Amino acid sequence: MNALTFPILKLLADGKFHSGEDIAQQLKVSRATVWNALQDAGTLGIEIFSVRGRGYKLPQAVTLLDAQAVLGAIREQAVLSTISEQRAFFKLEIHDYLESTNTYLMKKISSGHAHASCVAANLQTNGRGRRGRTWQAGLGASLTFSLLWRFQCGAAALSGLSLAVGVALIRALHHFGITQAQLKWPNDILVGHEKLAGILIELQGDMEGPSTAVIGIGVNLNLSTKIKQQIDQPAIDLASAAPQTINPNELLGVLLNYLAEVLRSFEQQGFTSLRDEWTKHHAYHQQQVRMLMPDGREISGVVQNITEDGNLLVETASGLQKFASGEISLRGVV
Ligand code: ATP
Repeated sequence: MNALTFPILKLLADGKFHSGEDIAQQLKVSRATVWNALQDAGTLGIEIFSVRGRGYKLPQAVTLLDAQAVLGAIREQAVLSTISEQRAFFKLEIHDYLESTNTYLMKKISSGHAHASCVAANLQTNGRGRRGRTWQAGLGASLTFSLLWRFQCGAAALSGLSLAVGVALIRALHHFGITQAQLKWPNDILVGHEKLAGILIELQGDMEGPSTAVIGIGVNLNLSTKIKQQIDQPAIDLASAAPQTINPNELLGVLLNYLAEVLRSFEQQGFTSLRDEWTKHHAYHQQQVRMLMPDGREISGVVQNITEDGNLLVETASGLQKFASGEISLRGVV
């Protein structure tokens, strides 16, 4: 990205018109340089209105991430005593832009990035989903961040982790009054069967332990029509699902609180202690579903339960079947 693009976007974040001349003066560059930097923003999919005589503006104001504001939303945690200890617990890094917060943190595991490192990006340009799929994001369109968590146990004991993370998201969304948020096995967050948030967990370490998880989360804040068109399933954002405007800094702080809470109970008791809460919020509990298999087959049935290691139990024509999350997609039957 052009080194000036993000400084200009920060000036435009107020959603008002800024003339090319003003921007050029503030950043001590020529107007042509400003124009070039804004062309670069266009190639990253950032929409900028340009009106002769008035200047440039974003379609709407954008609240950028700010470390102090995020830390301000970190609340007391039972295991830490002072407020400064609580805030220092999460090693927070905020980037203007990154290709993918998960890719960035995965590369940092071997260089010793600390437990509870959190990396967030105002703009994620190449977000990933499961199995090489893409997570669509945009400036002000979504909150994208990853949290690094080191476990004493091995990767084999982490099978219910992605479901546990879903519980943290549900608690945080309920905190903001989005009580209609539900889970879709294994770990999507839906509102009215439309996808609000996604989770991508990547692991490194031995099966016996210790191991490190990078927990990537994307929550839609305000999706433009253009971004929505790039998503091949129904998607929703907080701007339409929440009863009030949610500040992304507060959202990140509150999410970190609930993630730490849930990850600690997962460390101590595994997914068992979270299973009932998970089931309570499952959009497809005891519902008719289709399971899409990696070989293209489809199996229909009725969801019965979740096992203690996060597998899905479905009553099918050939009896009760257990599905592990890896390669399988669940779809509702309308
Ligand atoms: P499955 O139903 O197979 O489990 P998934 O929805 O869990 O699929 P993920 O890998 O978690 O798949 O996420 C990637 C998918 O999410 C994309 O293929 C796309 O359909 C959808 N997607 C991408 N960006 C967004 C977004 N910003 N909001 C909602 N959905 C998105």
